[in-house]
Amino acid sequence: MRGVMRGAMRGDTSAAPPGRAGLAVGSVTAVFGGTFDPLHLGHLVVAEWVAESERLERVLFIPAGRPPHKEGRTFAPAADRLAMVEGAVAGNSRFAVSAIELEGGGPSFTIDTVRRLKAQGLTEVALILGADSLVELGSWREPEALLAECRVLVVDRPGSDLSLAPEPFRRQARLVRAPRLDISSRDIRARVRARMSIRYLVPEVVREYIGERGLYLEA
Ligand code: ATP
Ligand code: MG
Repeated sequence: MRGVMRGAMRGDTSAAPPGRAGLAVGSVTAVFGGTFDPLHLGHLVVAEWVAESERLERVLFIPAGRPPHKEGRTFAPAADRLAMVEGAVAGNSRFAVSAIELEGGGPSFTIDTVRRLKAQGLTEVALILGADSLVELGSWREPEALLAECRVLVVDRPGSDLSLAPEPFRRQARLVRAPRLDISSRDIRARVRARMSIRYLVPEVVREYIGERGLYLEA
């Protein structure tokens, strides 16, 4: 984790300095949490487009430990989910991975993660959410605190209806445009189980990893 970072939140300031290729102009780190079971191209294109249009310094992919709202199904081991995310983001200097939610082994809450990151010195933290996550935000721990602690950047997602998100959440979130890819980890798991192709849905490194480790072959 990097030390203290300075600077104003980006995305709403016309006075923001122009970016140059390879030069970080933002000082905002965006948290992008998920089960990433497995990570797919929908995640990556969202992160890239949000990072670019919001001039984020960094997108921090944070695989969830045991997500509280996903009890009742089995997950690929945390180490495997982490390895797939690490492999997928390795070539992108704006992307990084944090295992902060995997340390305790218990359920993880985004508000706790954001507070811990801030305690570690990150001053400006944004949060990237797909539309389905904004719709469900009311069931998360301390959603109002989360909206107060970080700017929420939401992207549309096929099959999700942003208008179903509570009005105050919609008002406080910033809608960021990204290609709408109808890809989900759930479909990928189902396709692997059915011995169908997942080529072009996940990065090659993830596809190879799934094959080598024999992930998702059983329900
Ligand atoms: P699952 O089917 O297991 O729920 P998922 O594809 O939804 O997996 P998650 O790890 O649950 O992936 O998602 C992490 C974050 O990425 C969430 O905020 C989710 O809304 C967002 N996201 C995932 N896939 C897409 C997509 N295709 N387009 C936009 N946002 C997405
Ligand atoms: Mg999901």
